[in-house]
Amino acid sequence: MAFQSTVCPHDCPSTCALEVDVLDTHRIGAVRGAADNTYTAGVICAKVARYAERQHHPDRLTHPLIRTGPKGGGAFRRASWDEALDLVAARFQDIAARHGPAAVWPYYFAGTMGLVQRDGINRLRHAMRYSRQHNTICSTVCESGWMAGVGRYGGPDPREMADADLVVMWGGNPVSTQVNVMTHVTRARKARGAQLVVVDPYRSPTAAAADLHIAPRPGTDAALACAVMHVAFRDGHADRAYMAQYADCPDRLEAHLRSRTPEWAAAITGLTAAEIESFARLYCTTERAFIRIGYGFARSRNGAVAMHAVTCLPTVTGKWRHPGAGAFWNNRGTGIYHWDKTLIEGLDIRDPTTRVMDMSRIGAVLTGDPAELGDGPPVHALLVQNTNPAVVAPDSNRVRQGLLRDDLFTVVHEQFMTETAQLADVVLPATTFLEHDDLYGAGGHTHLQVGRTLVEPPGECRSNHEVIGALATRLGAQHPGFAMTALEMVDGTLRASGWPGAAAVIAARWIDAADPFARSHFLDGFGHPGGRFRFAPDWAAIGPHHAGMPDLPDQWAATDEATAEHPYRLVAAPARNFLNTTFTETPGSRRREGRPTALLHPDDAAGLGVGDGDPVRLGNTRGEVLVHARIATGMQPGVVVVESVWPNKDFGDGIGINALTSDAPAAPNGGAVFHDTAVWIKAEPTALLAS
Ligand code: SF4
Repeated sequence: MAFQSTVCPHDCPSTCALEVDVLDTHRIGAVRGAADNTYTAGVICAKVARYAERQHHPDRLTHPLIRTGPKGGGAFRRASWDEALDLVAARFQDIAARHGPAAVWPYYFAGTMGLVQRDGINRLRHAMRYSRQHNTICSTVCESGWMAGVGRYGGPDPREMADADLVVMWGGNPVSTQVNVMTHVTRARKARGAQLVVVDPYRSPTAAAADLHIAPRPGTDAALACAVMHVAFRDGHADRAYMAQYADCPDRLEAHLRSRTPEWAAAITGLTAAEIESFARLYCTTERAFIRIGYGFARSRNGAVAMHAVTCLPTVTGKWRHPGAGAFWNNRGTGIYHWDKTLIEGLDIRDPTTRVMDMSRIGAVLTGDPAELGDGPPVHALLVQNTNPAVVAPDSNRVRQGLLRDDLFTVVHEQFMTETAQLADVVLPATTFLEHDDLYGAGGHTHLQVGRTLVEPPGECRSNHEVIGALATRLGAQHPGFAMTALEMVDGTLRASGWPGAAAVIAARWIDAADPFARSHFLDGFGHPGGRFRFAPDWAAIGPHHAGMPDLPDQWAATDEATAEHPYRLVAAPARNFLNTTFTETPGSRRREGRPTALLHPDDAAGLGVGDGDPVRLGNTRGEVLVHARIATGMQPGVVVVESVWPNKDFGDGIGINALTSDAPAAPNGGAVFHDTAVWIKAEPTALLAS
């Protein structure tokens, strides 16, 4: 055997083109990035380079399991696929008959980013008229902010970062979360002497590698962006001719920003006015300035406003029109790939009157919050694929409370016995991406790819597509997609979306779907009527939670601000060796991460009487967590950072970081506010924490 091509399926915008050393029909060796893919460029992250650890992990689920003891007690017995699927179908039918189909809630997210294996659950949902899911947990706040001004997905080709003289990484940490960004930044630094500026509330590994790290208080990015725009107008760097052609109300914006001075922003962000002036000057005077927008700063109640404010910067300065300049967030499936997912998701049989519930508010849903249930029944059945809500969803104590309900029947289809699976009634073993076929676009670059089955699954693992089809048969669900193979779904979806079929893509290894320069740089106009960027968004058109949102880019005091009772602002940032909770099972990732840790500013640590390595308890009205402290510089006093998502069981009391985060929906269209949390911190000298 030899290295064979496939695609990284994980929830990461890089969607790397991989080459896997297939040792035999069951085993893999090394995994590397495809050197001839112009975005991957031979580089992948360490956690996927070690994928053999995960693929051949002794804890992989290999057989269906049915709960035998009390819920959450961990007692299961082995079952055949027929017994397990018959039980699931019978319970779903019984629950639908007694409470209505809306009492069944298929629940999924991005444990794989492959379209067939990720989104096929919606075909079963639509066929059965089960409750729908508002997919808010990752990118909804970013989407709202991006669409508010820009009006369509897409943007400058991320490979153009190599042509920039300044890259501003705003609210992201690609060294840990999408390493390929750094490949293209490094090219710019080497070839052009480009500078890297990182805007992040703490010294992440990317910030540590930057020429300039700007560390505002969490939730104040809009103030920083407004001050940069103030300087642009004040000092003659605003591109008035560009705005006259491409923007809605530059005069209104200029008048509005007159009072948004660096001094004003300094009081809000905790930065100095000199820092803000210096950054603004650097940005405004560099023609090829490329803002690579991350997700982190938007995971806040005011995150959409902040995202919109950042996208205003290249509009005020006219940078969108230059090569190696503008701003890029994500290509999205409806952007350059124009996916037609009718076949995969059964969009042709969707009943638009079925209930929709916010996935970030699964705790509220499962504990009967009428704001989520509406006039429908309580949820009595869950089918979970590709996610681990007991750990990753906000307000996790309430999620656990819901999952422990005796009148809830939960099915989890998973690769490992996650903490959600432990709370299930039926656990089904799932394939990895090396064991099934799928189709991939990419948020962070422009290639579409097909991943093929490279090895046999261990034991009796089945793909998501197979399980959905098997349940459809038992439930009497009707749609052509249920009778097709995954590869036929890939082929049909490619063709319906205007691309060559699967065989052609497999032969080519990838297709570059990049838009031409004029479109990706919005020279043909932005997405709103008249082709104009909107400084004044129509927030009400984007979502229902728009009350109080500012008319123009501004700091919006909607965050969970620090108070006397909760004096610290928590950022629950992603850990480098995990991807949400994926890879928390692999020994290499666990060893490198060490243990759940709270990064504390030296002044805060001194005030709390906490030394390096001491246990500390963090809490708020939702819960408490127990971790070790590490004293860290590179962030402001009053900020605490816990990199995760560690399993709950790895924390001192077995309660993970999302016990503290809120499921409040971000404005205007929902979205999880993972980095918008006020907490108290106490030294815990007597706690017994494993080292
Ligand atoms: S960088 Fe992202 S896409 Fe690339 S291998 Fe790692 S997790 Fe996968």
